[in-house]
Amino acid sequence: GPGIPDPAIRTTCPYCGVGCGVLARRDGKGGAAIAGDPAHPANLGRLCSKGSALGETLSLGSRVLHPLKRNAAGGYDRVSWEFALDAVAEGLLSLIRREGPEAVAFYLSGQLLTEDYYVANKLMKGFIGSPHVDTNSRLCMSSTVAGHKRVFGSDTVPGNYEDLDSADLIVLVGSNTAWCHPVLFRRIQQNRSERGAKVVVIDPRVTATADDCDLVLQLRPGSDSVLFAGLLVHLAEHSLTDATYLARHASGFQAVLENARGIAPDIATVAARTGLSPADIAAFYTLWAGTPAVVTAWSQGVNQSAQGTDKVASILHCHLATGRIGRPGGGPFSLTGQPNAMGGREVGGLANMLAAHMGYSAVEIDRVRRFWNAPNMAQHEGLKAVAMLDAVADKRIKALWVMATNPAVSLPRADHVMAALQGLDLFIVSENVLSNDTLAARPHVILPAAAWGEKDGTVTNSERCISRQRAFLPLPGEVRPDWWIICEIARRLGFAAGFGFADASEIYAEHAALSAFENVGSRDFDIGAHAALTRRDYDALRPVQWPVPAGKSQGTARLFADGGFFTPDGRAQMKPLAMPALAAEPSEAFPLLLNTGRVRDHWHTMTRTGLSPRLSAHVSEPGVHVNPADMARFGLEEGGFARIANAHGAVVLKVLGDAGVPAGSLFAPIHWSAQTASDARIGAAVQPFCDPYSGQPEMKATPS
Ligand code: SF4
Repeated sequence: GPGIPDPAIRTTCPYCGVGCGVLARRDGKGGAAIAGDPAHPANLGRLCSKGSALGETLSLGSRVLHPLKRNAAGGYDRVSWEFALDAVAEGLLSLIRREGPEAVAFYLSGQLLTEDYYVANKLMKGFIGSPHVDTNSRLCMSSTVAGHKRVFGSDTVPGNYEDLDSADLIVLVGSNTAWCHPVLFRRIQQNRSERGAKVVVIDPRVTATADDCDLVLQLRPGSDSVLFAGLLVHLAEHSLTDATYLARHASGFQAVLENARGIAPDIATVAARTGLSPADIAAFYTLWAGTPAVVTAWSQGVNQSAQGTDKVASILHCHLATGRIGRPGGGPFSLTGQPNAMGGREVGGLANMLAAHMGYSAVEIDRVRRFWNAPNMAQHEGLKAVAMLDAVADKRIKALWVMATNPAVSLPRADHVMAALQGLDLFIVSENVLSNDTLAARPHVILPAAAWGEKDGTVTNSERCISRQRAFLPLPGEVRPDWWIICEIARRLGFAAGFGFADASEIYAEHAALSAFENVGSRDFDIGAHAALTRRDYDALRPVQWPVPAGKSQGTARLFADGGFFTPDGRAQMKPLAMPALAAEPSEAFPLLLNTGRVRDHWHTMTRTGLSPRLSAHVSEPGVHVNPADMARFGLEEGGFARIANAHGAVVLKVLGDAGVPAGSLFAPIHWSAQTASDARIGAAVQPFCDPYSGQPEMKATPS
C-alpha cells in the first residue's frame, strides 16, 4: 500500500562470473534500488561499480518492445507474436526440408539463463537434429572446459571462493581481477591485509591488479605454460611433489615431467623464453613450492589462446603433482567471465557437449535420446563459434538464430562476421535492445526478449554455485522470456510434446532430472536433488554448489582432495603439452601484438553499462594503449589517432601512452562498436586462429 516499500527481491547480478547476490527493491517509478545481498556466499553483501549502478540501467528507452519483421524496403514493421513466430517456424521448416537440419544453427550467450539454454539446446540437438549450437562462452572459457575435461575427465572447478579467503598464496594468471572480478579481488585484498596472504600477478600487461600484490611477473605473451612447465620441473627436482597423491590419483606424471623438461629444463631457459629475470622466476618457484595453501587462478589471458587448453593443463599439472587440489585454501581456479558461462556448459550450450556435461559417445547420445524421447538426435559434435560463422560465410549454414549476444562486435574478424550475417537466408535475433551492430546486419526477424529484472531462472557462477535470477519488474511491451519464445517455435515445428513447459521451474526440474538420469556417480554434474522441486521450492531456492545428488540437501564445497576423478579409472590424466608458441608471430609488416580486454566499468558491448553516466565516466571513449617507446618509434602523439591494421582488418583509435603495456604490444578494450564509436570495433582486427581442442580463438596477441 502507499508508504509501504516493496519487499526486496533476491536476485543475481547479470554481469561477471563472480555471480554476486543482489537485493532489488522496486522504486514505484519503473526502476529499483539495488544493494548487495549479505546472505549470498559469492559477495557477502559487496557489489562493484557495475553491480551497484544496475538501478541506473533499467530504463526502457533503448529497448525493443515488440516483434519486428524486415520488409521489402529493408525497414522494419511491427508484427504480432503470432506472425513473427509463424514466420520463424515456416522459414526454419522450409530450410530444414530443403537443405537438411545441419543448415540451421543457434548462436547463444552466457547472458542467457540456464532454462533458456536448456530448451534451445534440446530443440536443436534432440528435435531439429542439428548439432550446431554454440555460444559466446566459446570466447570466454572453453579452453578451461577442454583443460578440465582432459585432466579431470569432467568440466569441474574443484574449489570455491572461500579458498581465496584462506589461501596463503594467490597466483593470478592472465587476469585483471581488480577490474574484471572486482568483488573477488576485494576478498583477495582482505586476505592479504588481514592474514598476510601473498599475491603474485602473472600478466604481460601491468594492470590495476598489479597495484596490490607482492610480485609481478610481466612475462612475454604466450609463454605462460613455459613458466608452469618450469615450476613442475622445479617441484620434481627439489623433491616437492606429493608421491602418494600422484601414485593413487593421477596417471601420466613421468611423461609430463619429461615433456616439461623439454620445454623448460632450467631457470635460464625459462628466463630466455618468458623474458622474466632468473631471480623473479626463482622467487616465484620458491614461494609456490613452499606454500601448501596456494590458489592459482586464471582468466582470459590463459583461455583466449590457440594453446589455451595446454596452458590450463600446465597449471592443473602443478596442483596435481603436489596434491594441492580440493583442499581449503588450495587448488586451481578458473575465474569465469560471464554470469552464466558455467550454466551454459551444464546444459550443453557448447557445440562439443550434448547435455548435462555429457558428450557425443554412442552411449551418451542414446541416453539423452531416451530421456528426451527425441525424434532427431544430433549424432556428432557441432561447429564451434569461429567455424560456425565461417560456415555461415560459405553458406553451409543458411539459417542462424542469435540470442542475447552481439557477434558482429565480439567475434574475431568482425567485418567478415558482419558480411556473413548479411548473407543468411534466414537470420533471427532475440534481443533486448533496438540497436547494435548485429542488428545492423538486418535480421529478417527481431524477437523482443526479457532482460535482467524481468526474467526468472538460474545462473551458475565460477565456483559452481547455482543462484536464482528473479524477476522484480513486469515484462514491458510485448517482451517475452527466451525460453517461452523457443518453446513456441518448437510447438510450431511439431514438437509440442517435448516443450510444454508452463514456467522456468518446470524446465529446471527436467534439467535436474537429466543430470541424474542413469548417473551412478559417473558424471560430475548431478543436481538430482532438484529434480522434484516444486514451483515454490524453486522460487525459494538458495544459492547451492553442484553437485547436489538425490538425497543430499547441501551442495558440494570441494572435489578431488581424495581423487575421485571422472575418468574411467578414477585417476587424473596428465598429458604432454605442445611446445609453447603464439598462433602468429610479429613480423616486419605487423610488428606489434594487439591484446584486447575489458575496462573496469563497462560490460561486453555496453548495451546496459552504457546507460549509466557514472559508469561511462570512468573510461569515456575507446583508445589504444601504447608503450611510450613504441609511441616514439611510430611517431604517435598522446591523444592523436592511430590506425591499427593487420591481415584481418583495421580500426582507428585514440592513442593513450601506457607504460604498463610492454614494448612491442598494444592493448585495446573490447566494448566499443560501430554503433558507439565508428571504426573502433576492435573485433575487426582480431585474428581467428583457434585452440585445436577448445576452438577458443587467440584474441590476446594479433600481429598488427
Ligand atoms: Fe556484478 Fe561481477 Fe561486480 Fe559482482 S563483481 S557486482 S557479479 S559485475
